[in-house]
Order: sequence, then structure tokens, then C-alpha cells
Amino acid sequence: NNFGEEQNGLVISHYRAQADVECALSGDVIRCHLRANLPHIVTGDHVVWRRGLGEQANTGIVEAINQRTSELCRPDSYGKMKLVGANITRAIIVIAPEPEAHSNLIDRYIVVAEHLGLEVLLLVNKCDLLGDNNPTLDLLKKYQALGYRSLAISSKNNIGMDTLKQLLSDGCSIFVGQSGVGKSSIIQTLLPAEEIKIGELSDVARKGRHTTTHARLYHFPDGGNCIDSPGIREFGLWHLSPDDVLHGFSEFRPFIGLCKYRNCTHINDAHCAISKAAAAGDITPERYKSYTYIVQSLDEVTIQGERPQ
Ligand code: GDP
Ligand code: ZN
Repeated sequence: NNFGEEQNGLVISHYRAQADVECALSGDVIRCHLRANLPHIVTGDHVVWRRGLGEQANTGIVEAINQRTSELCRPDSYGKMKLVGANITRAIIVIAPEPEAHSNLIDRYIVVAEHLGLEVLLLVNKCDLLGDNNPTLDLLKKYQALGYRSLAISSKNNIGMDTLKQLLSDGCSIFVGQSGVGKSSIIQTLLPAEEIKIGELSDVARKGRHTTTHARLYHFPDGGNCIDSPGIREFGLWHLSPDDVLHGFSEFRPFIGLCKYRNCTHINDAHCAISKAAAAGDITPERYKSYTYIVQSLDEVTIQGERPQ
């Protein structure tokens, strides 16, 4: 046998039949082949691998993939669901005063994050552009009241970046949000220059090319990881059911199961516990409206595809 002992590793990036695996002990990154019949491998996977012996020490083979705590999927250009990242623990939803944030879009991101069991951080970038009465501040208050953690920073002016580093110092984060809010700028500020090829993150992402580019895992110097790719930044409500959306509105949960009819759609039904809660002010009418809007638009965003293997 030409390979050494089994050891643990972390997939930093993956290609068709190969993966860059970071050795858990040495931190070396080794381009590995995959054992035949291995299930689909993805960035963020924890794997068991073996290093080549002798002259083959710069190669290796992945033997097994450990169970994942979360799987992020999106459709490829043919509409087939594909895994794009594994073991993500936190979604950073980036908003800014400019371009203006829309709460329905924030709600969409939150629904997916809740569905995947991710911690949510609402990050307001460009706080240098916040005046006293900026609508972004109202949004912040609204999501804080719902129990979501939030932070205002400016990546350009280095405001709040130390607090952000603290919040990201464990687990594995992804950055999502509209184009132009400053995701590339933030990631570039957080990572050492050698960890990142700048063009890879900003220009390619902005022009929307290479949306099939595979995700890469980066280490923050003060701890914590992030997985990033243009595809991950655009994550959406693919393959979610109306029931998934319902559970994604966490403050609705106490009312679930209290509707008069078991098949209640929770949309404008006089016997619906959730619409009653909205009418009574136990749920904000705005979030209720957002929920109905998302459910009614599910047919448009759901792309027919298979569950990833
Ligand atoms: P992305 O599309 O979300 O990756 O956004 P970019 O990182 O490309 O940033 C979009 C624009 O916002 C760029 O022109 C940045 O220079 C600018 N920007 C980023 N951070 C800040 C900030 O803290 N304050 C201000 N005023 N502009 C910023
Ligand atoms: Zn109902």
C-alpha cells in the first residue's frame, strides 16, 4: 500500500475528482484524490484521508466523509440541486444604508438560515453613512426585538471590526446579502493578504461571472472559518416548502398547531392562529405580510431538482 495512516482533515476546496484537504495536525494543504464510490465531497467537509508515502507525500487520498452538521445547496445552471458547502454554523446577513436594505430579503435569508439551523448575525456595513434617522436603524431594532444579534461596522473606516472578529472567532460563517453592501470589502479586511487572492473575491463576484466557481474555506487569524464563493453569497429559498418557511419565522412557532384546520395555509384564514396573532399584534403585521409574500412566491423560486446525494 502506498499510503500512510488514516488521519483527519478539512476540505478547503474541491474539484471534479479531487479535493484540497488541510491536514488537521500540520495544517498542510494536500491535493487529494477521492476513493472510488465516495459520496459527493464539498468545501467544509471533515474527512478521513491518508497521505502518500515517499515521493508521493504531496498527494493523498480521501477515504471517508464525516457526518455533516449542515448542508448548503443551490441549483446549478441546469436546475439540479448541488451541495455548495458543509458544516456551516453561522450566516452573516450583510445590509447597508446604500444600497438600501429590504426587510423581505432579510426575511428570506433568515428563513434559510433557520432551516439549516444556522446562527444569524445581522451585520450593518457602511455605518459611516448612517445618519440619525436612517431607516436601516429601524430595521436593526426590528430584528433585535426578534432576538437576532446585530452589529454595525464600517469595513472602510475600520469601525467595529474587532467586535466582528470576536463574533466570528468560532464555527464557520458565510456572508450573504445584496451586491454592493460590502461583503468582499469585509472579507478582505478580515483575512490576511496571503489568505486571499483579491480579484477572486471582488471583481469576479461583482460581474456575476464564474457563478459555478467552487467555494473556498478561509481561516480568520483570530479564529473561526468562513466559506465563500459567489454562489454561496446568493443563497436562496431553493427547495423549501411552505412549512419550512413557516418554521423560519421563529416568533410564529408558539402559534403553530393552534389553527382550527389542520391543513391551514395560514394565509388570510379567519380560523388561523397565526393570522389572529398578527391581528392582535403578537406578531408584527409586517412579518406576517412578509411570510405570506414569501410563501406565495415559492413556486417562482423553487427550481425543480433532486435532493443532493
Ligand atoms: P459586495 O458586492 O457586497 O461584495 O460589495 P463590495 O465589497 O464590492 O463593496 C461595494 C462598495 O461599497 C465598494 O465601492 C466599497 O468601497 C464600498 N464600501 C465597502 N465598505 C464600506 C464602508 O464601510 N463605508 C462606505 N462608505 N463604503 C464602503
Ligand atoms: Zn393557520
